[in-house]
Amino acid sequence: MQLDWLLHPLLSQINTGVVVLDAQYHVVFFNQFIARRADIELAKVQGQPIDKVFTDLPLAWLRRKFDSVLNLQVPAFSSWEQRQYIIKLPHLRPLSSDSRYMAQNCSMLPLTAPDGMSRYIVLLIEDATDAYVYQQQLQQSVVQLEQANRTDGLTGVFNRHYWQQQLGYEIQRAQRYQHPLSLLLFDLDKFKDLNDHYGHLGGDFVLIELSKVIASLLRDTDLLGRYGGEEFGIILPETGLTGAMQVANRICDKVAQHKMVFNQQGIKATVSIGVVSYTEQTVDELIQYADTALYSAKRQGRNRAVAYQPGLEAAIKKIK
Ligand code: GH3
Ligand code: MG
Ligand code: MG
Repeated sequence: MQLDWLLHPLLSQINTGVVVLDAQYHVVFFNQFIARRADIELAKVQGQPIDKVFTDLPLAWLRRKFDSVLNLQVPAFSSWEQRQYIIKLPHLRPLSSDSRYMAQNCSMLPLTAPDGMSRYIVLLIEDATDAYVYQQQLQQSVVQLEQANRTDGLTGVFNRHYWQQQLGYEIQRAQRYQHPLSLLLFDLDKFKDLNDHYGHLGGDFVLIELSKVIASLLRDTDLLGRYGGEEFGIILPETGLTGAMQVANRICDKVAQHKMVFNQQGIKATVSIGVVSYTEQTVDELIQYADTALYSAKRQGRNRAVAYQPGLEAAIKKIK
């Protein structure tokens, strides 16, 4: 039965790319789906090797697939997750995506002509751009969620939960490798007065601004987090007490010198810092010691850094 009347419109209208190659991988046929997107006419390229017709093919990989289709006479398949596309074609949809090219699922089928001798490969190419774009958007959302989950909404530094978790990991690392580790806990001085004077928005502005200033003074491996209110913590891996005190003093100086302008009013702020070096304490103990040192810095007049040492608690009590 002659079926051209059926096959021709079918092949030219289906939403799947069809490419037929002979056993030498020369192009025998492709349908409208391919012709339109690749902007080539079948009559002009018929009989040419596939890599001359379509550039940028993953040729070595494709040959291995084709060889197995021809020799074993079994289908092969390639998904967009494995390779985004086989034939570089634009996708014709108004989707915003990182890629201008069509993501493809490609089936490679063996075909034998009615003479029983001539063998062919049929490539069926399906547009999987929607799935590709949705997966990209999903991945982006996951990254954004992870980021939001560990970030303080106001200042952009790490939030307390994430920061404290990192402190646990850094303690484990310092213990395992016997490396130094220090912790800074700092609190803005007389922040209540600042809020009273400049308003809560002025206070927020200072928190945001100082977070930036302090972050710029740190190494990439240091971890700055908002511990609560106007209190922040900094984990300094690979840093002993001397180094930590240098960092703390630098922060005190830079913050005190930093001039901020809010609503055309100049604002100056200072911080007090408690410093402690890791020597086998738990997370809670380390924070407690840093807090004691911070309290001592407040008692000694603010705008300064104090290192924790055993007995500091008793010394503070005496001052009381
Ligand atoms: P000290 O030098 O002893 O630390 O004095 P202080 O006034 O800073 O101390 P205190 O802890 O009593 O007050 C902290 C103030 O910080 C109170 C609170 O309203 C303010 N604060 C906490 N979180 C925020 C915030 O997110 N934004 C603003 N604007 N203020 C905050
Ligand atoms: Mg304060
Ligand atoms: Mg406070």
